[in-house]
Amino acid sequence: MATQQQFDTVLKNGRVVDPTNNIDGQFDLGIRHGKIASVAETIAPERADDIIDVSGQIVMPGHIDTHAHLSSPFNSNVDRAYGHAMLVESGTTTALDLAGDPTSMVQGMIKRGAGLNVASLMGLVPHSTIPEDDPRPSTLRDAIADVKKRGGYGVKMLGGYHPFTPESSADVVAAANEQMAWVAFHVGTKDSGSDMTGLREVPEITGKGRLHVAHINSYTRGMIDQPHEEVQEALGMIERMRSQWITEAYLAQANGTNGKCDENGDVIYNVAQNCLKARGYPTTDEGVKASLMDGYGSALIERGGRVIAVTGKEAVDIWEAASTDASLSYPVNPPTSAFSLATAKYDDGTFRVDAISTDGGSLPRNVAIERTMALVAFGALSMDEAVIKLSYTPSRLMGLLNKGHFSEGADADVTIVNPGTGKASMSLVAGEMIMLNGRAIGKGGTWLVLDEGKQAAEATGLPYQVINLENSKLYANWN
Ligand SMILES: [Zn+2]
Repeated sequence: MATQQQFDTVLKNGRVVDPTNNIDGQFDLGIRHGKIASVAETIAPERADDIIDVSGQIVMPGHIDTHAHLSSPFNSNVDRAYGHAMLVESGTTTALDLAGDPTSMVQGMIKRGAGLNVASLMGLVPHSTIPEDDPRPSTLRDAIADVKKRGGYGVKMLGGYHPFTPESSADVVAAANEQMAWVAFHVGTKDSGSDMTGLREVPEITGKGRLHVAHINSYTRGMIDQPHEEVQEALGMIERMRSQWITEAYLAQANGTNGKCDENGDVIYNVAQNCLKARGYPTTDEGVKASLMDGYGSALIERGGRVIAVTGKEAVDIWEAASTDASLSYPVNPPTSAFSLATAKYDDGTFRVDAISTDGGSLPRNVAIERTMALVAFGALSMDEAVIKLSYTPSRLMGLLNKGHFSEGADADVTIVNPGTGKASMSLVAGEMIMLNGRAIGKGGTWLVLDEGKQAAEATGLPYQVINLENSKLYANWN
């Protein structure tokens, strides 16, 4: 008689949902050497070194967040590395830092990591992370090659904060595509804003290339037309660019921005200006102050190892102490836009917006899992579809072929969700528990790098995985 395989951990009696393998039902999940070893109706207790009873809980492939914030290209008044624990506590197992800087991200992961798998992008900031205002193609090529060497997945344009001309934005896409680096765009150029006017420019900026258009919901806040009209226009554009764009949207009402004002007292960043305009506040320091005092806006502050949002006088004090260069948040995302973008499909049943992200991490709005579960409770998504938007499709976007499903040999990254609250109650990465009952218990993390970043990853002493973006949906059929 053959000896039966032994498991390191068995998650027992959960409702296992794995659409890739057509699994939805009560099963035991056996984990061995950090990989999925078996999904079976029952695994005998003597075959498990450790049994975790997850009766009544949903067991899904780990949440992969394609838009998170774990580092910053700015001098942020809060340490974005707190986002590791915050993401983990909401049930996320893998994140794309959007963006950021790979070197400071990994320093943050060493110091405050909580067990996540993380890929990192560098934010393109003129005179800071790149030398020129509208950089030449050769400057961009060098910057992108350098990012990959430092362990980054690629770059992000921060159009709502540091816009380029449309021409330079197109150069960024082309330079990144040429090196098969990740390229994400918070839309907006010197000719447009972080709204529908910015999104309308993106097909031309994309050209024949490939692009991650970040947080589609942020351009459908009703700044130009009614939110539902903007959503329809955005969805039409996504359809036309279907083979070239990848997209995500988040479900939190609160956004994240920065309250920095210039020496005349005018609000500098377009996103912050829009937040104030949306409620009729002047786009000045007085406007910011009033919006915080009224409780419309909030300021972010570190407390007890997490980042929280506070309002009123306390918020004004934080903003003033940072000489106005403080992280702020406004409830500007209309629920109708969030709902439509999360659920819209093509005729063939696939989703128009690829993934549900948090746009959180260090921003306290890591609600992707619980809001997606609310859509399931509401009947707007099936449980299978929730897993597709939270895990399977994000895994395809990021080229993580070994994640997003429970096939034998897949990475044992698991998110366990309480169906009553819709919140994650436990999660594992590579078979190790990183969160239990809403508390992060993991340390460090696994760095997801491209081939060029291998040496940088090795030098950190952290575990790492080398990812080939040829396997990413971003570069599907690219040659
Ligand atoms: Zn973001």
